[in-house]
Amino acid sequence: MSFASLGLPQSLVQKLSKQEFAKPYPIQEKAIPAILSKKDVLGIAKTGSGKTASYVLPILANLQGRREVEKDRSVDVLVVVPTRELAVQVKDVFYQFSSESGGDVRTLAVFGGVSINPQMKAMFGVNVLVATPGRLLELVESKAVSISEIETLVLDEADKMLNLGFEEEMNQIFALLPQNRQNLLFSATLNKEVKNINKVLLRNPLVINVEETETADIELIEQTAYLIEEEKKGPLLRYIIKENNFEQVLIFVSSTFRADAVVDKLKKNGFDCMATHSKKSQGARTDALTKFKNGKLAILVATDLLGRGIDIQGLPCVINYELPRSPKDYIHRIGRTGRAEMNGKAISILTTEDLHHFKVIQKKMKKRVDLTYTDDLNLSSY
Ligand code: AMP
Repeated sequence: MSFASLGLPQSLVQKLSKQEFAKPYPIQEKAIPAILSKKDVLGIAKTGSGKTASYVLPILANLQGRREVEKDRSVDVLVVVPTRELAVQVKDVFYQFSSESGGDVRTLAVFGGVSINPQMKAMFGVNVLVATPGRLLELVESKAVSISEIETLVLDEADKMLNLGFEEEMNQIFALLPQNRQNLLFSATLNKEVKNINKVLLRNPLVINVEETETADIELIEQTAYLIEEEKKGPLLRYIIKENNFEQVLIFVSSTFRADAVVDKLKKNGFDCMATHSKKSQGARTDALTKFKNGKLAILVATDLLGRGIDIQGLPCVINYELPRSPKDYIHRIGRTGRAEMNGKAISILTTEDLHHFKVIQKKMKKRVDLTYTDDLNLSSY
């Protein structure tokens, strides 16, 4: 199956081949024709499945040519996302394909934690607005944007939106939308809460479930775990990075405090490294992630803020400096590597206290991970 046969316009098909999107992923095969024909879609899909392009491409196609360049504050497409990082990432995918889509599609990402004034000014003439819920409501309230005439609503990572407690905001947003519109709902899981939104939101949707692709992705990830004493974790971390010659490494820790401490220590040992977590300013978080994504930063140390939804092209290795509490988070973390059909490594650094919890994680992910004992390792020079 080719992108052209899904009904996408030639200009987008050309852009896709330039970006080396050789053929559609399963979710794209199903979602693109449905969205092009204005159907509602419920996509049960995790990041890594190609879900973003599965809605971005047909939305761009649907906007193409029809839209005169109306310079007003009313948007055509609203994409609601749970985090600032995802907002920027989704906007980037719209940018990736819109420059040659032929139309004059303007996309803007808005999110909290930064000054609202530049966002208010930039809202003029926007076609696609990608927004986090709170900031969107603020912008509507201050009349900087109108969402009462949108054609298409996308809720991306709906389950995470609910986990983060955005239900109230989401209901307020739904009440501001026109009755007649296309609804696209994407969620990594289909839990009871997501089913409830599905009921109020979707009209006879096409249901696409590609949940199993995450398991396939896990198969592409080579997982190992080292067992070591707490005080030797730092030297072991440096040993692992140096000995493997990883070009880039994403390191997960369990607290903002630990993230800063690990970065300090790595820097002192000459590593190129930054931290990203909730206590950093939005500017600092965007800066670190952009540098990392562009390959200009070798090591990024993050909390679980980054565990879901963030796509880093060709990331060779994820290290769990500390295990996450939930097995689901473990799977999300290691899923940052081994994406888009590429191999990746996931390394966990454990102390004896972690062993029981690590067993639970392996059971949940239905995969055994070999333990490497470190007694024979000489870490004195690390
Ligand atoms: P997503 O699940 O939307 O985060 O996408 C995961 C990754 O797959 C992104 O890096 C996309 O650029 C890439 N991708 C999506 N669709 C395709 C495709 N059909 N061919 C190649 N890469 C793709």
